[in-house]
Amino acid sequence: MKKRRVVLLGATGSIGENTLRVLAAHRDRLELVGIAARSNWQRLAAIAKEFNVRHVGVFENGAYAAARASGAFVPGTALVGGVAGLVELAQLPQADVVLVAVVGTTGLEPALAALAAGKRLALASKEILVLAGKFVTASARAHGATILPVDSEHNAVFQCLEGHPGAGVRRILLTASGGAFRDWPEERLAEVTPADALKHPNWAMGPKITVDSATLANKGLELIELQWLFGLKPEQCGAVLHPQSIVHCLVEFHDGGMLAQLSPPSMTFPIQHALLHPERVKGAEPPLDLTRMVALEFRPVDERRFPLLRLARQAMAAGGVAPAVFNAGNEVAVTAFLAGQIPFLAISRVVEQTLALSDHFDPADLPAALSADAEARRIALAQLTNLNSKS
Ligand code: MG
Repeated sequence: MKKRRVVLLGATGSIGENTLRVLAAHRDRLELVGIAARSNWQRLAAIAKEFNVRHVGVFENGAYAAARASGAFVPGTALVGGVAGLVELAQLPQADVVLVAVVGTTGLEPALAALAAGKRLALASKEILVLAGKFVTASARAHGATILPVDSEHNAVFQCLEGHPGAGVRRILLTASGGAFRDWPEERLAEVTPADALKHPNWAMGPKITVDSATLANKGLELIELQWLFGLKPEQCGAVLHPQSIVHCLVEFHDGGMLAQLSPPSMTFPIQHALLHPERVKGAEPPLDLTRMVALEFRPVDERRFPLLRLARQAMAAGGVAPAVFNAGNEVAVTAFLAGQIPFLAISRVVEQTLALSDHFDPADLPAALSADAEARRIALAQLTNLNSKS
């Protein structure tokens, strides 16, 4: 059997580490041919050694220079730097699948490059679709390339929709665990510290997405991602609280039938699906044990308690660059919260103000979308200054 050859952009983060577990479990089916990370070249060197990888990218200039000088990579390793290096890896002639899991929008250009080269794009960085969904999905169509979602909920939707014409879908609900504060009384939310926000009940993830899970901004970004991936209308995309994180989505058809996808709350499941699709073989981890499962609960989301979900839905309905503005405002606000500069409850206020003060036009091209993103960040930063001068 011919092995599927994988390029992994974002090899040292949480998705990257889980991908390596999948690759290690399926060395007979999958071969790692390229890896990249923002700056952790020491870890890249260890991965390159373990998986015998000869194409390595380091995004940050200083770290790239340090990696080159280190002698940590075996002779014959092609070491590339910057976004140009990531683009080169995304188009490696021998690669079949490119998994983009770099933080934020750094992966946008490499993702577009992979699609233009006709590669299968396994997409984990949700900001790429939030910022440029219109252009990314158009490029996939134009080049006949497939996007396989790696985000657990979207991967679940992909699985439920296989073989079902889109016209039959009434709506799709993504499940949300509710994050670190789902059982806190509302009056205590004002005192939440960065340390509190970083304790997620079910999933182990990076700091930004863990805060986004606590505010449900993550679910908001996922609804926008959902809309682009499956060509849905905003009103067809919803969320439901499900504290156990076992059911990842619910697809409701017009006839009232509903399909759900279940798996343990670990990223190795969607990653393996995206890399091996359509093949189904033994997973890297044990499946669900129904004899040990207590109950599956579902309850509606209280948008008063989670204003960022309401704002995300408003941005999605407004369309154009509004989702990108939502994302930019949220990124600026979460960074400030993690740095101790603003209180937890101010995150949604910064985003709401940024949306109110931004122009929500329909971007004609990618540079227009990127400039709206940059402008929204400037507006959000100005909101931080306002907040701090008032306190
Ligand atoms: Mg998710």
